[in-house]
Amino acid sequence: MRQIAIVGGGPAGAICAEKLSTAGFGVTLFDEHLAWEKPCGGGLTHKAIEKYPFLLDGPAAKKEIHSAELISSRGHRARFEMSQPLVIYSRAVLNGLLLDRAEAAGCKTLHARVTQVDTSAGEVQLTAAGKEYIADFVVLAGGARNQLLPGTTPLRPKDLEVTLGYFIPAKDDLVRIKFLHRMSGYMWSFPRTDHLSVGICAKMAEYTTQSLRDLLDGFIHEEKIPADGARFYSHVLPSPEFGTLRHRKIAGRNWALAGDAAACVDPITGEGLFYALRSGDLLAQAITQGQPESYPARLRSEFVADLEIAARLVRLVFRGTFLGGAVTTRMVQFARRSATFRELLRDLFSGAQDYAGLRKRLWKQFGVTLAEFVNDFFHAPHAPTPSQEEL
Ligand SMILES: Cc1cc2nc3c(=O)[nH]c(=O)nc-3n(C[C@H](O)[C@H](O)[C@H](O)COP(=O)(O)OP(=O)(O)OC[C@H]3O[C@@H](n4cnc5c(N)ncnc54)[C@H](O)[C@@H]3O)c2cc1C
Repeated sequence: MRQIAIVGGGPAGAICAEKLSTAGFGVTLFDEHLAWEKPCGGGLTHKAIEKYPFLLDGPAAKKEIHSAELISSRGHRARFEMSQPLVIYSRAVLNGLLLDRAEAAGCKTLHARVTQVDTSAGEVQLTAAGKEYIADFVVLAGGARNQLLPGTTPLRPKDLEVTLGYFIPAKDDLVRIKFLHRMSGYMWSFPRTDHLSVGICAKMAEYTTQSLRDLLDGFIHEEKIPADGARFYSHVLPSPEFGTLRHRKIAGRNWALAGDAAACVDPITGEGLFYALRSGDLLAQAITQGQPESYPARLRSEFVADLEIAARLVRLVFRGTFLGGAVTTRMVQFARRSATFRELLRDLFSGAQDYAGLRKRLWKQFGVTLAEFVNDFFHAPHAPTPSQEEL
């Protein structure tokens, strides 16, 4: 296997192209846009930076954010410092950086849309911009809207979130996240170097685009974000269910899916950049070692098993109740009043806390968290008068 075709030059396809080219494969990458402003928050957690330090060290424009504010659906707020910065890129910059690295490693990039992939013969046949191409193996990293699926099923509406938002020419130093009342999803404001990406995500099967847009416009108004010059975007985001992560086929004899196409996204947070990079990298490793069939198992042992736990928790997090209030509201209240709980959030934001250990840690520190909450509630200097609302 020497010639590899890659459909999609986002993080998954670009890093796979870089690694395979470095290993000496002949790689051709097709992307209909190349380095473009793909609708996205652009936030990279510390676990992505740890694996790929060039994302922080290099000269490409990016913003390091150290503070976050969580806002409950009822308006409670908790601000905290993160232990590690969230690194936020414009996607045009990030994709450009990753594609440059792939090209520098020897990958050939073509600005073209692939319209057909045939994997039924011994070799793979692709059609792009009216031309035919032949390869030994095809990596399908065309994102969540990917239609090229030899031998597998498309993601169902239950596995997808609708997202929409605005790129707004404004500056900020704070990530804001607002939870929604009894809805699986949230709104965010992610500051980049010279603009904000402000958006909303929620399960596709459950909400209309217009209802989400109304909620987002309300958020922008409440947060006093100046909306002048705002540029609207919308896109889909995988939010895979447990069964999809466990059973959907993501690889065959001469093809494999990576990134969003393989539904490698955290169903709770919507984080996909880290998983796109890791899946592209792990696929390249499997191919380089002559074991492409080991790719699904590599994904599972590195992160898919953890994403399955997230898929089981998602409803509880966004729709569940705890001590008589919404889980997300309690989360914000605990974050505001308990240092121990803020420490947990820091680890969740950086990626140091996985889902496998989360439940155990939550119960283990529950007593301390509650004691800190009660103590702060009654004794903190300048604490607001305890109100019915807070309880
Ligand atoms: C609104 C929104 C906000 C998000 N915010 C964050 C965030 O802050 N942090 C985070 O970690 N994740 C975030 N995500 C998720 C993240 O954007 C994705 O997980 C990530 O982009 C997946 O990378 P990928 O390489 O798999 O796919 P993509 O980045 O979607 O790249 C796919 C590429 O394939 C190309 N392509 C598709 N079809 C074809 C074709 N037929 N022929 C040629 N080219 C093709 C496209 O042009 C595209 O460049 C967000 C997603 C959305 C929608």
